[in-house]
Amino acid sequence: MVDAKTKVFAVIGSPVEHSLSPEMHNASFESLGLNCIYVAHRVERHELADAISGFRALKYGGVNVTLPHKCDVMAYMSTLSREARLTGAVNTIVFSERGVEGHNTDGRGALLALEEAGVNVEGRRVLVLGAGGAARAICVALGLAGARVRVLARKPEKAKEVAELVRRAGAHAEAGELVAERLAEEVEGCEVVINATPVGMHPRTQETLLTREQLSSQPVVMDIVYTPRLTKLLREAERAGCRTVDGVGMLVHQGAEAQRLWLGIEPDVRAMRRAVLRALEKRE
Ligand code: NAP
Repeated sequence: MVDAKTKVFAVIGSPVEHSLSPEMHNASFESLGLNCIYVAHRVERHELADAISGFRALKYGGVNVTLPHKCDVMAYMSTLSREARLTGAVNTIVFSERGVEGHNTDGRGALLALEEAGVNVEGRRVLVLGAGGAARAICVALGLAGARVRVLARKPEKAKEVAELVRRAGAHAEAGELVAERLAEEVEGCEVVINATPVGMHPRTQETLLTREQLSSQPVVMDIVYTPRLTKLLREAERAGCRTVDGVGMLVHQGAEAQRLWLGIEPDVRAMRRAVLRALEKRE
């Protein structure tokens, strides 16, 4: 029940109506019996400053930031976590006595999803496809966890920028061009492959950057796309005998990390996952 003591949390973005975060966070709050509620607010770029001071004045418990504001919002933070600073993006805001703290839990979310599947990336060769916002966060987290990262993008200069971020995190990183004909060879040299591009997402569900034949070396395959949950890439990987990790894991774990930062509690990750799967089923 919502009452005068209810702590409010929110996600901001534009658009934001498609966000699964309200269902996901509220499922954990409910399961743990917390007097908290999570809502979504559509906020435009020119409204960011007002929105953040408003959240502070209204004593919001915490805020998530989604597209397209993850970089722009940094200008309004008093402090940045190491992950947020290295990635150059914020997805979680914590209001504390230190002011407005900017964090980035996306990369850690991906690592926790891999860990849940029994994959420890330390010392492992990890191939990341794509060099956009999600790839940056994942590569930085991989670097901080001691992985050896190779990042490929259609525009090799973008991949180079991401590899530089990983090196700043103190880890080994290489960059290259994403060329379909050379992918089988690239995959062979790696133990984990992560698709961090939108390839395979609705409505292009029949697309995949890698086929069963190109995965014959049987790396662990993670796809961060979660609509659909079982992407063509994951189906191809299963047929090739690879261990697979879907994008729902990253989504749920980045949210769980946010709850740990805001409330210092252990969230109900299972309830969060169930809520996401239910919401996805309704949409598919
Ligand atoms: P983004 O910033 O737009 O980056 C997309 C990247 O994919 C860019 O490097 C882009 O290359 C590349 N790309 C796009 N189409 C491609 C194609 N046909 N072939 C090869 N590369 C291609 O997007 P993002 O925010 O990183 O998100 C990427 C995907 O991850 C989206 O599907 C998003 O929904 C998903 N995601 C999932 C989670 C999760 O929690 N599971 C979290 C964040 C994002 P160019 O620069 O050459 O266009």
